[in-house]
Amino acid sequence: MRKTLEYYSTNYKAENLTFHLALLKGQAPDKGLYMPLIIPLIPAGEIQEYRQLEYGEIAYHVTRRFLEGEIPDDELKIIVTEAYNYEVPLERVFDRKYVMRLDRGPTASFKDFAARMMGRLMQFYLRTENRRLLILTATSGDTGSAVANAFYDLDNIDIVVLFPRNEVTDRQRKQMTTLGKNVKILSLDAKFDDCQALVKQAFADESLDFLGLSSANSINIGRLIPQIVYYFYAYARLSSAGEDIVFSVPSGNFGDMMGGLLAMKMGLPVRKFVIATNENAEFPQYLATGNYNKIEPSRNCISSAMNVGHPSNLARLVALYGGIMDEKGLILREADMDLMRNELWSTSITDEETRITIGEAWSKWKLLLEPHGAVGWTGLMKFILDQGDKLAANQLCVSLETAHPAKFPDEIKKITGIDPELPASLQGIDHKPEYVTRISSDYNEFKNWLLENYKS
Ligand SMILES: *Cc1c(COP(=O)(O)O)cnc(C)c1O
Repeated sequence: MRKTLEYYSTNYKAENLTFHLALLKGQAPDKGLYMPLIIPLIPAGEIQEYRQLEYGEIAYHVTRRFLEGEIPDDELKIIVTEAYNYEVPLERVFDRKYVMRLDRGPTASFKDFAARMMGRLMQFYLRTENRRLLILTATSGDTGSAVANAFYDLDNIDIVVLFPRNEVTDRQRKQMTTLGKNVKILSLDAKFDDCQALVKQAFADESLDFLGLSSANSINIGRLIPQIVYYFYAYARLSSAGEDIVFSVPSGNFGDMMGGLLAMKMGLPVRKFVIATNENAEFPQYLATGNYNKIEPSRNCISSAMNVGHPSNLARLVALYGGIMDEKGLILREADMDLMRNELWSTSITDEETRITIGEAWSKWKLLLEPHGAVGWTGLMKFILDQGDKLAANQLCVSLETAHPAKFPDEIKKITGIDPELPASLQGIDHKPEYVTRISSDYNEFKNWLLENYKS
């Protein structure tokens, strides 16, 4: 085997691990996040060669750098081919300004890119060790369906999702309950926080250790690495030799953004990342002032998946610039703010601006954006305006659209009168049978249900 890459914790108080162990662990024992100790470089010549490759092939060449010696090349090829069996459209809007639609996976959100590859990587290690994991996750909507779909029908993994009955839409519920097989769904007459509390209590319950409980946490390094790939893909498809590119990323927990930053540190010629947040403006303020203040409670905006007052991946971003931020958001070592400002540009977009963009994008260019993608596109337009003559008119720019318009149709309908058509992956879901069990928020009832269903 080749030598393997090590992963360190951003709190620097846990031992370094291999990818395999960091993947199955999720969060480091010191509450830090795992990051690669060395960021592998991809030579410029190789990046040029990606032009001829399919998405899955680019995914293989990029992610292989982080998995050397930990997974056989032929296994990795199978994993990326299975995980990325859908389109990644790049839609030209005007000049050389594009929208990359990351919404063609089974749950029509960009989270499919990460979850599908992470599930298959976990399956590979579990199969090799001949053991099982039982993934418990609480959801307020979209994460549960992305994770349930990603783990559906995989060997050696069972998954249980808990959701608050009155807080998810019919469509969100059906994306989870119509799966069956190794996916079990619990519906609670409770709030999201109660679901979360049951899951946490189960993790802390030693009498359940034999079940091999694990989480598919959004801060798992296995979810980050797959999100590097689409930045290389966009560049390979759109660039002319040697030029650089601007990306705009609508951001909540900054997982998507971290994928982009790692791509740049691997050698992708990025001129600037535009980090667009909604009214949760803690990051733009930090970039401007160097002072970090989380927003508590987070503000409710129409780009609901980005209502985050303290991005969980920010510790990774700070680490990439030489600083230390602990899990509570305290800065223990200053990051290189000059370098950060050189590479990143950030802005907060109000709901009002988001709505205006949805309307204008449609009337001007027949570009259909849902609220998250509209935040990204507004950020890009603001950046271009801000740069003025410093940016060539033909600068290549790509803004990320993170969900399918049919997932968030309300604002689009109100503003444009258009009722976006459901993508194929979501069609027919209304008529499928649902598999769902109702339980109360009583821990003993939950525990007994687990024991009955999973005692080997
Ligand atoms: C999760 C999510 C985001 C935010 O992504 P982060 O990686 O948390 O920054 C944006 N848009 C949609 C549709 C999402 O589901």
